[in-house]
Amino acid sequence: MNNIRIAVLHFVHETVTFLSNPTTVDDFIYEGSPAQGEALLRIDPKSYMGGFVKVAREYGGVELVGIESPLQPKTGIGSGWITNEAYELFVGKMIAGLQEQGPFDGVFLALHGAAAVTGIARPEAELARRVREVVGKNAFIAATFDPHGNEDEAFLESADLAFTVKYYPHYDAYLQGSRAARTLVRAIRGDFTPTHAARKVPVISPTVLQWTGGTAWMSLINRALIWEAREPDVFVNVFFGFPWSDVPDAGMFVQVTTNGNAALAQKVVADMSATIWRQKDSLLSSAKILGIPEAVSRARQAVDAGQFPVVIADHSDRSGYATWILAESLRQRVSRTLFATIADDTVLDRLQDGRVAVGDAFEMAVGGRVDASAGSPVVVRGTISYVPDLKPKDDGRLPFVTVSFGDNNAVVISRYLTQVMEPVELNAFGIDRDAYRTFVIKSRVHFRRGFDDSGFAKEILVTEPDEAFLGTVKLDGLDYRHLDLGKFYPYGDVEM
Ligand SMILES: [Zn+2]
Repeated sequence: MNNIRIAVLHFVHETVTFLSNPTTVDDFIYEGSPAQGEALLRIDPKSYMGGFVKVAREYGGVELVGIESPLQPKTGIGSGWITNEAYELFVGKMIAGLQEQGPFDGVFLALHGAAAVTGIARPEAELARRVREVVGKNAFIAATFDPHGNEDEAFLESADLAFTVKYYPHYDAYLQGSRAARTLVRAIRGDFTPTHAARKVPVISPTVLQWTGGTAWMSLINRALIWEAREPDVFVNVFFGFPWSDVPDAGMFVQVTTNGNAALAQKVVADMSATIWRQKDSLLSSAKILGIPEAVSRARQAVDAGQFPVVIADHSDRSGYATWILAESLRQRVSRTLFATIADDTVLDRLQDGRVAVGDAFEMAVGGRVDASAGSPVVVRGTISYVPDLKPKDDGRLPFVTVSFGDNNAVVISRYLTQVMEPVELNAFGIDRDAYRTFVIKSRVHFRRGFDDSGFAKEILVTEPDEAFLGTVKLDGLDYRHLDLGKFYPYGDVEM
């Protein structure tokens, strides 16, 4: 068998275009990023890349070439529009790398799908289009996506294969990477003829509703899994969409790939899109969102009744700086409550200048400020209880501190929005989690993997401020410029 050469590229961001801070060139450059060669192939061993590399290398005669690619920006998901300059710089490097190191029989694109770039309406599809120009029509292009990707027909016009994670929390990223590898190798060897059908479903939903542990979304995903189980070589992708990217291809989208069977692809797409449309009201009412005063008082009642640990999840904070729950908790004089985290780089810079140490008194206004959605800074008076050692990825900047205050409470002040997904992650903040009864975190659904699916929390309260700030479930309160909400259920009078 002839050797197969596969280029591997990475371009991942979930862009909240309503955030005022753009995602810049600088945000993609840090220790380890951009990455190429083996270093690129070794990122995320438990995710898309790990699954792809493991399975591709199980075949003899497959050579993987890691092409210089940016990793996720250091702002994580806490930054807005990717600048056109950043996109052109890094995509330019990827294309140059493909030209220099080619020819290739195949390309693997590790993507997310919700990147939003100034001046480029469909950045992942545009990347696939440019890659196709270099590798030619005979090469196969495969990609992996997050279910929050905003995609439409355009991507598979240039690419051959797409594999989207089904679960939210995203448990199956490694699995989708491994399927991408196997199917790509089969396609290159002439054993799989990618044949697609795809359909936009005009339903848009805030991500906090999309938990696949709840009945509505679990049933939908189960239907996709059943199609894959009963028909060999059928791959069903359900994009839930990401409504905080103001882009024309947001909303739900179904893609089906078969091995040369166009009629089957059409049949499965028709079934999946009709299923979504029939179930749309259940999909859109899958979580109860409380106001913040109610969430804090219900947490106190649950603790008093012995129903703890309690999790209060602020699903709407997109900057990480929001102080709404902290402020309300101080008003309600809570105890044994951990706030993880509140972002505030100014506080961290000031502490670092003063060479902060454990046991120092702390009195500063924390969080708020960056925009209206973050609320007002809240003065915390307490004691520094944990200071981390700096790691190379911290770029010499203190990443967080932990402050104890009030009646056995603590707050972690971090540099960026931090999504705590598992209780064990709190160890890194120097937290003894048995000391707390209420955990206030910033997450929509991912926290359920460690706090809910595991049975850890006795009570889970999902909350947002009354105002329609940028992460709100009230999407019609947002100032969309590129996406027309009127074309989506439940906002417009739409038909399927
Ligand atoms: Zn996601």
